[in-house]
Amino acid sequence: MNEGFRAACVIGWPAGHSRSPLIHNYWIRQHGLTAEYRREAVPPEKFAEFIGSWADSGYVGANVTLPHKEAALALSQPDDRSEAVGAANTLWLEGGTLRSTNTDVEGFIENLDAAAPGWDSGLRNAIVLGAGGAARAVVFALLQRGAGRVIVANRTFDKAEAFRARFGERVHPVRWNEVGGLLADAQLLANATSLGMAGQPELDIDVSGLPPQAVATDIVYVPLETPLLAAARKRGLRTADGLGMLLHQAVPGFEKWFGVRPEVTAELRDLVLRHIAGR
Ligand code: NAP
Repeated sequence: MNEGFRAACVIGWPAGHSRSPLIHNYWIRQHGLTAEYRREAVPPEKFAEFIGSWADSGYVGANVTLPHKEAALALSQPDDRSEAVGAANTLWLEGGTLRSTNTDVEGFIENLDAAAPGWDSGLRNAIVLGAGGAARAVVFALLQRGAGRVIVANRTFDKAEAFRARFGERVHPVRWNEVGGLLADAQLLANATSLGMAGQPELDIDVSGLPPQAVATDIVYVPLETPLLAAARKRGLRTADGLGMLLHQAVPGFEKWFGVRPEVTAELRDLVLRHIAGR
């Protein structure tokens, strides 16, 4: 192996759909690093074994995607974020110890900071649609950023209620049909369900109920302009799209593994967009 060569990978099952190799190899080329970012398709029953010998295979870091995010947490020493969210998506070695974090938290926040600066000033009520894995990162991120109240609406109400048990009293679980009546007093609306994604049902929320200074964000990024974002823009609201979150969540892992903090540029966005369109 070349002197100074470093490798990282995305571990998933399947791993073929991941856009992480595109993003990280773009930054590797941009910074002229002697490094490579690969895909590793690892079935659930082989994950622990793979992780056990992972560093011996020359890896300095990894992203972890479905269905391994909970197992990655259990097999590593998590930071506060991955512990709180209950899932890890980024692994690295620290003095021989396997550490983990959840960079969806940072990705969600940094994307809003970049696309809608000041979005968090006077953030009394944020509405989060969804109570799945990604919603956990979104809710944790909003609480950390100081949201007064995070209203969580989900088709399966029990899962929204479980968010209050996990994250505390600033979380208010509501039923899906209550959302319309809560929009007028919300400063942020975040879709963290898979609704609105290509091939999925539409999201049936009428954004005309939001105040004019509210910000709307969607973590779905195929299509880039989801029906929610299109309606919000039409209404003149500021928006942040899911592709921005995807790109920003990749930054901390790259920095940990390769020692350079990469930038989310328009060129990188175009590269990933072209890739999505080509599929
Ligand atoms: P997940 O754990 O499976 O959660 C899916 C969520 O969507 C649940 O709240 C689920 O409600 C809701 N949902 C699904 N179908 C629905 C329907 N027909 N009607 C109402 N609600 C429905 O998935 P996830 O990992 O959280 O991912 C959610 C989405 O976020 C995916 O599209 C994923 O690609 C995207 N994502 C984007 C990023 C990014 O960087 N931009 C990062 C992570 C995830 P129930 O609980 O009632 O089933």
